[in-house]
Amino acid sequence: MSEFRQNLATKEWVIIAPDRGGRPRDYCAEEEHSGMVPPYRADCPFCPGNEAQTSDELLRIDRGDEWLIRVVENKFSALSTDHSVARRKYGIFLKSDSYGHAEVIIESPRHNDVLVSLELSHLEDLLRVYRMRMAEISMMKNIAIVMLFRNYGPRAGTSLEHPHTQIIASSIIPPHIRDPFQKAALHYDSYGTCVYCDMIGEEIRQQERMVYENEYYAVFCPFAARTPYELRIYPKVHNASYFWSSKEELSYLSDALGRTLRSMHAVLGNPSYNLILRTSPVGDEDVRYLHWYFVIVPRITTPAGFEMGSGIYINPVPPERSAEELREAVGRE
Ligand SMILES: [Zn+2]
Ligand SMILES: [Zn+2]
Repeated sequence: MSEFRQNLATKEWVIIAPDRGGRPRDYCAEEEHSGMVPPYRADCPFCPGNEAQTSDELLRIDRGDEWLIRVVENKFSALSTDHSVARRKYGIFLKSDSYGHAEVIIESPRHNDVLVSLELSHLEDLLRVYRMRMAEISMMKNIAIVMLFRNYGPRAGTSLEHPHTQIIASSIIPPHIRDPFQKAALHYDSYGTCVYCDMIGEEIRQQERMVYENEYYAVFCPFAARTPYELRIYPKVHNASYFWSSKEELSYLSDALGRTLRSMHAVLGNPSYNLILRTSPVGDEDVRYLHWYFVIVPRITTPAGFEMGSGIYINPVPPERSAEELREAVGRE
């Protein structure tokens, strides 16, 4: 069985998952990414007609007589709510069963759909599904954090080509997530303000890294972007939790996300990318020092020994230049 193990020195957790070899993978060769993708594949578990190959359906959005979005449990996940949350000693080390929950949001019935070309209403439905699922998972026993991410393309580590988003929920808040929260709390204790609201305000004031702005959202390449064309989408009004986004806000968010992805596509071709939704831990949805946001990282550069050794990323494209190109692409629409 899979288990969490803690690095005694850094307090980071890893999952040791020896039985993950059997999960489906139709996306091995990088060259496949540039080839033509068919709208339907008989051997794809997420294509219509193969619904029985997935785990129990948790949510379905229908349009007409076909489904538009389906959510299923990730049956190949190392995490399960059947496991125990108890930490156990192993000598002086700490480990735990891999308690948690994982699900997959199948974003479209069409195998070759990409987020960048979805209709606005479809994208909005997807953002609403994100909220519904995250809210429901937060109610599950012992869940402390809900993490949503999307891997697109072989360089982003995707194992299935059919368009999908993944959600992972855990009883453990890893240091990678906890550390920035603690720094944000310190900033609040020093200045009495949300550090993210301060950053967003400054990016809007300086303008040079802004890519797009609508009534509710600001899109920019951050001042200290780690990688070329790294993008953030932040709500402009303070909000620690994605669950608290209103229907009207999500409609504006689909506009901001759609334009952001299309501009990235226009500038970089069809890049592999990771999209991550960062939101407050369960129970901290109303705190004044956290602020939810999307991070989008096109996988153009590969972190190497320097980055692994130092934790300092070398970004060969200044975010001012990335933003200028992306902004021009948004303006050309
Ligand atoms: Zn498919
Ligand atoms: Zn804020």
